[in-house]
Amino acid sequence: MADSAFVIRVIKHGWPALAARMAVMWPIVKKKVLSDTSARQAIETITRLWRLRLRQLHDANYCQVSTLQRLQYCRNCVPAFAIVENQAGRRTCRLRTICPWCYARKVHNLYKAMESYVGSDDIKFVALTTTLVVYKREVPGQLLLRPLLTYYSRLASKVLKKLEPAGGAYTVVVDPRDDRWIISDRLLVLVDPAWSAPDWLTQYQMDVLDSGESTKQALAKTVRKVCRYPIGMLTASTDAVVEVLNAQRNKKLRAIVGCLRKTRRG
Ligand SMILES: [Zn+2]
Repeated sequence: MADSAFVIRVIKHGWPALAARMAVMWPIVKKKVLSDTSARQAIETITRLWRLRLRQLHDANYCQVSTLQRLQYCRNCVPAFAIVENQAGRRTCRLRTICPWCYARKVHNLYKAMESYVGSDDIKFVALTTTLVVYKREVPGQLLLRPLLTYYSRLASKVLKKLEPAGGAYTVVVDPRDDRWIISDRLLVLVDPAWSAPDWLTQYQMDVLDSGESTKQALAKTVRKVCRYPIGMLTASTDAVVEVLNAQRNKKLRAIVGCLRKTRRG
């Protein structure tokens, strides 16, 4: 098996695709990609970066790509942001915390999950976040990344429940750097238009990143803020990335509540 040469048939448009593009493609290529020509170039760039990272992860013996067969399978994970030739027969690698394509599909799905609330005059979309930067040189030996992720995941879940939104989602993201971890709890909540951040949120160091009425554009912007791709996954040293991937293994770092269990205006 060799690297697939993906032939792009059409670039995806529409709000879910744009939300994914803004959250994943733009940070990786470090610019706003608007035209189809630029999007095609960006897909090529990301393909190159992702395949290189996979090769490095394989060389570092990262368990998810330790065999040559699995490495090749992941290198051929079908790109997001476009429809390629023979799309139906293509596979995805499901390394959702690092693979830019699978991460983008996750963003796309989050937009879709919230989409039924667009146009509703009784909600607005709000993005909330808290970020912790941990310098590795300052971390005591017993304090590792994994317990920190457990803590942050519980915190996100607790805040989400306490807010009692009509719908909502949280994700815990670690952006690796060689000398530090940037850990963020990110929440997307659907609340009453008159809602303002309650005082108790400051106890959790939660900041309101963005909020907007129930339009498609506001939802895309909110999803972008909540789902921004952790760029260090592609730029930090391989050792720093493997450390984060291992800490995240088998951890539940994302949940959606509300909109999936309540019916609209039910
Ligand atoms: Zn993938």
